[in-house]
Amino acid sequence: MSFIETTLYQKTKDIINRYGFIFKKNFGQNFLVDDRVLDKIIRAGEIDADDAVLEIGPGIGTLTEALAMSGARVTAVEIDRTLIPILENELRGFKNVRIINEDILRTDVRGLSEEYGRPLKVIANLPYYITTPIIMNLLEKELPVELIVVMIQKEVAMRMQAKPGSKDYGSLSIVTQYFADAYVAANVPRNCFMPRPNVDSALIRLKPHDVKPVEVSDRKMFFKFVKAAFSKRRKTLVNCITTSPDFDISKEKMTRALTEVNMDERVRGESLSIEEFALLFKSLFG
Ligand code: SAM
Repeated sequence: MSFIETTLYQKTKDIINRYGFIFKKNFGQNFLVDDRVLDKIIRAGEIDADDAVLEIGPGIGTLTEALAMSGARVTAVEIDRTLIPILENELRGFKNVRIINEDILRTDVRGLSEEYGRPLKVIANLPYYITTPIIMNLLEKELPVELIVVMIQKEVAMRMQAKPGSKDYGSLSIVTQYFADAYVAANVPRNCFMPRPNVDSALIRLKPHDVKPVEVSDRKMFFKFVKAAFSKRRKTLVNCITTSPDFDISKEKMTRALTEVNMDERVRGESLSIEEFALLFKSLFG
């Protein structure tokens, strides 16, 4: 038996054949066909019967069924209307599941949480083409979400959880960790999906902070500052910021600010923690 010939692999093949479903590449349809990964998602989400879950992109309902079996109330939002009759039929036994045919970027997440009377857990095997917009939309708008457990491209997951000094550390690490605790709960090889994508995946767990790790006067400007700091790899922070088209900061001003916060003027963005970035930002902009 080969690695992916699991029960779920057979079940997926059966459903696809039975309904004559045709995969749509533009919707990022790579269905999960490994039972063990499904278990890992449920465990990382710590799903129980009290939870209200928003699933993004249920596909043929594999993960939806596992979520529903825990007793949680589940709303599954699927953009592809050809999947709706399949989902409705396959999940007809579950009274705790609701299926909505919609683009997740248009879903009223706040309204859904109000309806359930509690913050949501967002659980999904996300379509690659809109991974970052979906996650950032949830985090930046500070929607009522208590936990996000999502399968995404491995490279993006590594960047989200990276710490200063590591090769994956960059502006995405800082922006993500400003909003949430991030850690990779599992690495998932490409052969766990049908059809097999060109990249490996990882399951990332994002727990939004109750209190932000740093206080900044202007959040948008802070993120722009961080982006500028990482705009040129292997260049000093002074070089990146003073040559950035987004900021009008002289070398003298930048050096003064670094001295004020006891940082070396040859420092690079790659080595600064979010706290150090915030300190420097405050020294420059108040
Ligand atoms: N959950 C299924 C699984 O794990 O096998 C399917 C995951 S597949 C990677 C992504 C799913 O998201 C597909 O069913 C796709 O049609 C759906 N999708 C793509 N873009 C979407 C969007 N903007 N809103 C809601 N669903 C979307």
